Amino acid sequence: MTPDIFRRRLLDRTVRAALLGGLLAKAPAAAWGADASDSSDSSDASDSSEPEDIAEDFAHEIWDVVVVGSGTAGLCAAIAAREAGARRVVILEKLALTGGHGILSSGSVAVATRRPQSEDPDADIREMTAEMLRAGGDLARPELVRKLARESESAVAWLAGMGVNWRNVRYRAVGSVTARNISTGSPQAGYDYVSALSRRAVAIGAEIRHNTRAVRLLTETMPDGSVQVVGVRAALGGVDDRGAPSMSDFPARAVVLATGGFGANVGMRMKYAPRLDATYGTTANPNRDLLDGAEGDGIRMAEAVGAELVGMEHIQLIPYSGGRLLDFVGGEIWVNDAGERFVPEGVPFAELARIVEDTGNRSFWAISDATTQKGASLGVKLDEAIVREAATIEEMAHGMDVPVGVLRRTIVTWNRDVKRGYDTRFGFPVQGVPIAKPPFYYGRETWSVHFTCGGVAIDEEARVLTARCRPIFGLFAAGEVTGGVHGKDRLGGMSMTDTFVFGRTAGRSAAEWANATAKLREGTAAP
Ligand SMILES: Cc1cc2nc3c(=O)[nH]c(=O)nc-3n(C[C@H](O)[C@H](O)[C@H](O)COP(=O)(O)OP(=O)(O)OC[C@H]3O[C@@H](n4cnc5c(N)ncnc54)[C@H](O)[C@@H]3O)c2cc1C
Repeated sequence: MTPDIFRRRLLDRTVRAALLGGLLAKAPAAAWGADASDSSDSSDASDSSEPEDIAEDFAHEIWDVVVVGSGTAGLCAAIAAREAGARRVVILEKLALTGGHGILSSGSVAVATRRPQSEDPDADIREMTAEMLRAGGDLARPELVRKLARESESAVAWLAGMGVNWRNVRYRAVGSVTARNISTGSPQAGYDYVSALSRRAVAIGAEIRHNTRAVRLLTETMPDGSVQVVGVRAALGGVDDRGAPSMSDFPARAVVLATGGFGANVGMRMKYAPRLDATYGTTANPNRDLLDGAEGDGIRMAEAVGAELVGMEHIQLIPYSGGRLLDFVGGEIWVNDAGERFVPEGVPFAELARIVEDTGNRSFWAISDATTQKGASLGVKLDEAIVREAATIEEMAHGMDVPVGVLRRTIVTWNRDVKRGYDTRFGFPVQGVPIAKPPFYYGRETWSVHFTCGGVAIDEEARVLTARCRPIFGLFAAGEVTGGVHGKDRLGGMSMTDTFVFGRTAGRSAAEWANATAKLREGTAAP
């Protein structure tokens, strides 16, 4: 070891000791049911992991913040980190493309509005919190849910400042319970968010390295046995002189995991939900012909350094890749092989999955007409005959092989119900449009894996937590890689909001940590 490196490592240890005494006293006390009196994490780290202490020497300079994953959570984190003063910020992305699932997303974004002039300015924030807690059950962490609702509006305004042009119409996204979703109104709203975010990230000096797959977190063990994350090892997509995968270390003061969920990893999802075998496609990759980065890499890397995983068995299935054409409730009806509506189309996803599973049939028909504005998928679905057009109800019934009389009665009843605002089939108030204007669209819809609700435990500052509710120093996470925000079921539009709010928080927290460690080091080094 050269004297310089020796000196730096000595300083690092002094800095960490100071941090342990000061900054880290911010660790949450009672959240996640932890024993706040126990400050040792050594058992967490050694039980479930094989953390590798960082090499004596670094080939490169230290990054302030390394973000793993370039979906909306990762992009928000990188931007927020730069805005909070982190100097060197890099995003590692294993694919050749920026944007993750965000770029494919329909772009429904759930927002709670604060009304300062009203008697109860925070009523809508409380309502959104209550909606999420009802859907998420015991597994949704109230403090995370409250934060998401409270900061949703400012996150949306933050994106507007980057050029996202929100359309001022609130709608009820499929899988949500109230009309609180917004989007840009374009058929590719997710693309709009990714474009604006990636432009901003690059403009303010964050780097994006594509084809760079993080394979493990680099750690150091502290004197008390706890683990600090000090960088990321990544495979660069090529091979070295000896034909081995070309690897590089990215030493960092802080690391943000934003690697998305694990829906594309059949082995991993079957570990937690055995019935979800390879016969289930995913909404991101319905024909299994695309690359889908949602393979649980970040979850496994975090687990290897002692992170707690929560809610892993809650994997959301939705109807998406087949006959469904609309992302909002009220323009489409879903009918069974008898030609009857069998489910209220607006129920939360988990409830929907349960009802459909009870029917013993994984698929059904989705029907709409020419009145409603369709998304970008219409052309493709018509081209591939996933969706077909019919000039009359008779022609449609024939194409679906259902009794004409039953289908006509179903549609007539729906049209009458939406005019009256009450769904007589299921006994709910309903808002919708009649299905009356040809051409009619119909297609067979089935279930695809859409969203993994579980992941690494975090606190309100997006710090990754161990089973004992202690933060893993230097490690932050945001977006679908985390668990506990949505509990056992995610409502429509809440995931995008989650990536904006917690991505931003993770970036800020990581920058704060990086800046503090850098300052302490400078202070310690001063004569
Ligand atoms: C078709 C579709 C429509 C959707 N519509 C909506 C909607 O309207 N509203 C809503 O709220 N939600 C929607 N969702 C869900 C939402 O899009 C996702 O939950 C959200 O985009 C996840 O964002 P993320 O940044 O956490 O992860 P992702 O977007 O999955 O990004 C993770 C990134 O990390 C990369 N990565 C993974 N592992 C590594 C590694 N080891 N090294 C480097 N990089 C890695 C991946 O390649 C990926 O680019 C939709 C999802 C799909 C698939």
